Amino acid sequence: MILSKFGEKFTKKSGILQLMDDLGNALASDKPVNMLGGGNPASIPEVNKIYEQAFQQLSGYFLQSAGNYSTPQGDKAFLVALADFFNRHYHWDISPKNIALTNGSQNAFFYLFNLFSGKYADGSSKKILLPIAPEYIGYADVHTSGQHLAASKPTIEYVTYQTQAGEALEGFYKYYVDFNALSVDDSIGAICCSRPTNPTGNVLTDKEMHQLTKLAKDNNIPFIVDNAYGMPFPNILFSEATLSWDPNMIMCLSLSKVGLPGLRTGIIIADEPVIHAVSALNAIVNLSPTCLGASIATTLLKDDTMKTLADNHIRPFYRKKVDYAISLLKQELGDTPMQIHQPEGAIFLWLWFPGLPITTVTLYQQLKDSGTIILPGKYFFLGIDNISEYIHAHECIRMNYAQSNETLKKGIAQIGHFVRQAYGK
Ligand code: PLP
Repeated sequence: MILSKFGEKFTKKSGILQLMDDLGNALASDKPVNMLGGGNPASIPEVNKIYEQAFQQLSGYFLQSAGNYSTPQGDKAFLVALADFFNRHYHWDISPKNIALTNGSQNAFFYLFNLFSGKYADGSSKKILLPIAPEYIGYADVHTSGQHLAASKPTIEYVTYQTQAGEALEGFYKYYVDFNALSVDDSIGAICCSRPTNPTGNVLTDKEMHQLTKLAKDNNIPFIVDNAYGMPFPNILFSEATLSWDPNMIMCLSLSKVGLPGLRTGIIIADEPVIHAVSALNAIVNLSPTCLGASIATTLLKDDTMKTLADNHIRPFYRKKVDYAISLLKQELGDTPMQIHQPEGAIFLWLWFPGLPITTVTLYQQLKDSGTIILPGKYFFLGIDNISEYIHAHECIRMNYAQSNETLKKGIAQIGHFVRQAYGK
């Protein structure tokens, strides 16, 4: 089969595709597996019950939703409910014209990164600037041709972590944007960050967000904020942070991490010209975005059920879970040099093993062979040149902590075994 350049790019065995295959194969095999590798959110029974009720209530109107194509911009009733919701709770003064839907937010990043970086008509070429790497691995391969990412290494500060029970724990650190290293010139087409960040659980501070907002505005480029884990839903956010929007910002949200990843519903809030561009892409790529998620979420937004679920069930569930995972990590690895990125949000713990005598790709292989899947850190350092020389990138792993307590116990015990073995303990 002879493929176009586009075909070659999107079918070649990239590192990430290999990892994703590994995840899929591990899950499909008969061997039991401690899956701490993927990005699946937890299944929370109280929350699922509400979704099931909403689905049943929809059944009488099912064909109103599934029986029609929406406009390329997305389901009208949901766009209205979203604009009302954000005006009611955040006073953003937006209208449905500021919102478009996509088939999951991954779909949105494919559009946005290709709209704001790559080759331009004047022959120039632009990149997306990630203010901090490590960043979301899903940004890595979305360009239709080449990879157009630039990133800065973070600064690191050691911190004391307060558990929910008020215990002060050492052995934690936090990444900050290194503004001294961040430069924007006309080779940058947009700035983008995930907040809370996948893979680290970092939440950029309000001060950092203000600085990035200004940097983007001063350079007349958009600031793309990936809010897949943030406020107001799913609100998997444990630090002090505010949510703001202005017409230069492209805010991306998703119904995935509230527990509905299969409904593939992404939301973009942006200035009208961006919404027109996204709608035009939707028309070509999808005709119209899927509307089942939109139909279910419309009522849940109108009466604030979605916000209540996020505040009273989703966020507390993850807050408790992350402390449980940390207690297991401290138990198994407390006497090693392990440092944990302060968990401020999202569904991952980012572990750093300073001076680890093996790379975390080797650690990943050892763990995989024993039935535990994590992800090695180096794949998340998108846009960093000479990654082989950046030792920190080879000393980190990402683990998903949204799994059952049993899986966490078994998986973390195995991480403990191999890391201790590597350190010669
Ligand atoms: N952004 C971040 C930071 C993510 O972690 C994910 C999925 O894991 C996505 C975007 C894409 O999510 P979806 O396409 O399910 O909305």
